Amino acid sequence: MALENGSISINTENIFPIIKKWLYSEKDIFIRELVSNASDAISKLKKLASIGEAEIGEDNRYLIRVVVNKDENTIKIIDNGIGMTEDEVKKYINQIAFSGAKDFIEKYKDKTDEGQIIGHFGLGFYSAFMVAETVQIDTLSFQKGAKAVKWVSSEGTEYEMDESELDTRGTVITLHMAEDSLEFLDEYKMREILVKYFSFLPYELYLEDSAKKEEPVKDDADKENAEGEEKKEKEAPKPLNDISPLWLKAPKDCTDEEYKSFYTKVFHDFNEPLFWIHLNMDYPFNLKGILYFPKLKHEFETNEGQIKLYYNQVFVADNIKEVIPEFLMLLKGTIDCPDLPLNVSRSFLQNDGYVSKISSHITKKVADKLSALYENERENYNKYWDDINPFVKYGCLKEEKFFDRVKDIVIYKTTNDDYATLKDYLERNKEKHENKVFYITDEKQQAQYIKLFKDNEMEAIKLTTMIDSHFISFLETKESGVKFSRIDSDLSDSLKDTEAVSVDAAQKEGLEKLFKEVMEDDKLKVQVESLKASAVPGMILLSEQSRRMQEMSKMFGGADMS
Ligand code: ADP
Ligand code: MG
Repeated sequence: MALENGSISINTENIFPIIKKWLYSEKDIFIRELVSNASDAISKLKKLASIGEAEIGEDNRYLIRVVVNKDENTIKIIDNGIGMTEDEVKKYINQIAFSGAKDFIEKYKDKTDEGQIIGHFGLGFYSAFMVAETVQIDTLSFQKGAKAVKWVSSEGTEYEMDESELDTRGTVITLHMAEDSLEFLDEYKMREILVKYFSFLPYELYLEDSAKKEEPVKDDADKENAEGEEKKEKEAPKPLNDISPLWLKAPKDCTDEEYKSFYTKVFHDFNEPLFWIHLNMDYPFNLKGILYFPKLKHEFETNEGQIKLYYNQVFVADNIKEVIPEFLMLLKGTIDCPDLPLNVSRSFLQNDGYVSKISSHITKKVADKLSALYENERENYNKYWDDINPFVKYGCLKEEKFFDRVKDIVIYKTTNDDYATLKDYLERNKEKHENKVFYITDEKQQAQYIKLFKDNEMEAIKLTTMIDSHFISFLETKESGVKFSRIDSDLSDSLKDTEAVSVDAAQKEGLEKLFKEVMEDDKLKVQVESLKASAVPGMILLSEQSRRMQEMSKMFGGADMS
């Protein structure tokens, strides 16, 4: 066969079902895409105006409206952005996968930063056909002398273009909703979706229900309601978004009050967060956000955090594990990263080295913040420790790098009621026991032993969270030579009284027999030693190793068996 070159053509009838059914897992994505396009249209116009390539009136106020109408089964998305000329409709709408957003960024990349453009792949618009039978575009370009264009398509495979009656700059997308998608006409449902994706969109966003106004007034009761309704409508409507979220402000300009109220607003959590980290970097990637340390419940497993990821102020998803290291999922926060390599459906990431860089940057920032608190606000750090220690320990177990960064600022509350790092503790107790850490897990249960320790001027640390048995086993592998023993597992030499009168062989045999019988264990080893003077008459010791093994398997056992 002779050599032939050519370009492969796409048959829309075949590709369409794929876009409709497979590209977007959730139907409500259509509204995310269409409002994102409206936002892009405004961003573009703003940019052109700022470099003198577009003229817009002084009284211009950028806004986006979503109008639902149950009577007509329509949803309209209206913007006063850049609009499209006839040629642009032909290029960007009639050709699937031609992105005006991408073209725009290419064209202006030297003149401005690419900021805030959301679109990329040139497919989003077609998500409208997931929910609409017929889609109509009416659009008027900002360009002088432009004529308004109307574009209508029923299946998304064939279209009709004509002149439009639109007489204001911008674009109106009208969706005639399909039978199986009428739920989106509900104002509450629509509000919920808009709030989810666009709470922080950079331009004012309004939701209106135009069906309501035409409801016939039947009797007096209804009339009163209707008047109430009218009154409500006369108040100036408020946009449902906050166009300048706190994370975009410079950290030095934000007050504690602002951080706290932002937290309450976003997470509906009325407990004050302990502290927060404001992420703010432009280079080598653009990353902005605020991470909050919530007041944790002690059983950290039940404490689900929430980290909301945004892409140019549009919500992407919660708790994306590629970007946020797993142990940070206990935190609450918002992260906006316009450099994220989102995949076509914008719900997932295309995994690449970039994403892991972002993730380790976040880990580093968290460790830095903890170190700064430790260095500069030691008292607060101690105070927070009860809440943050499960989180820090979990992080150490999960991320080697995190452990390396924070290992010297892990502290322990001691039986003397102060806090010490492992190093401090070992240093100040080295004369009584070298490289050995005694700990307690339950002050009541181990009260006698604690008393014995105190009588002999000894000190133990308190380990009271679920994660501790793992954490100390982990530390024993990292800090060579250091051993942890629960206060009731091992008799420290400094508690033994070697000068006290010892028992003879017959007495020892008698004791051995007695204990073997009582414990019902022939193999029991009995050793007789004397305790130093104390109000404590004697103690039972439990092997550290076997107890710890039991505890760890208990913690995992339940999950493994189910
Ligand atoms: P993308 O946003 O990824 O570029 P879309 O399929 O969402 O792809 O949209 C295709 C193109 O259609 C956009 O890039 C833009 O040029 C044009 N477009 C869509 N909606 C609007 C709008 N509301 N105003 C102006 N242009 C629009
Ligand atoms: Mg788009």
